[in-house]
Amino acid sequence: MPVIGLTGGIASGKSTVANLLRAKGATVVDADAIARELVLPGEPALDEIKRRFGDEVMASDGTLDRAALGRLIFSDQTARDDLNAILHPRIFEVIRNRVGQADPAHAVFVEAALLAETYSQAAHWTGMDCLVVVDAPEDRQIARLVARGVPVEDARLRLAAQATRQERLARATHVLDNSGSLEDLQRKVDRLWAELSVPQVPKRAPASEP
Ligand code: ADP
Repeated sequence: MPVIGLTGGIASGKSTVANLLRAKGATVVDADAIARELVLPGEPALDEIKRRFGDEVMASDGTLDRAALGRLIFSDQTARDDLNAILHPRIFEVIRNRVGQADPAHAVFVEAALLAETYSQAAHWTGMDCLVVVDAPEDRQIARLVARGVPVEDARLRLAAQATRQERLARATHVLDNSGSLEDLQRKVDRLWAELSVPQVPKRAPASEP
């Protein structure tokens, strides 16, 4: 069965789609949760991060200070590349293992916030066949974040730190438009599930690297 990437901008509705897919019996591997597990105290990746970035990214209780690390890599491409070099091979390995353990009768989804940004590598290392992008207009993303209690300026900054909507759509092999109601979204997920739950997904080539 196919291995399908699932992504979308912040508050696009990605987790909502993941939950709708789980309710239909799909295995959804949460790559962002794996990334968090891999930097828990005692994990080799945390030791490497500490060696590379120093004590300033460590909280006093020995856990990773994610906010400090986020600030450090925000405007430093080399630091971001170094962090990815530590984390990505480990994340891909865990994804491969979980995909291998999934029910072979159903499509397996791999959900990740920044999958459009890393798709070529992720597809290569995890055997992903296609990429579903959950898409919503940016004002809708901001409204959903504000409804969750995020100040509007912070919401704008968070969107600006990700790939643009156009960049993400350029990578998509399948788009789930989430500009309507939750009922609309459910219907679209039903259709996507029917399309992808066949052993041979008609492959559409993703757009090339920008
Ligand atoms: P993401 O995982 O992409 O950050 P979520 O799935 O958590 O986004 O959705 C963000 C918020 O928007 C959640 O509170 C969710 O319930 C809500 N939401 C998602 N899609 C819709 C929709 N079509 N209509 C109304 N609310 C929605």
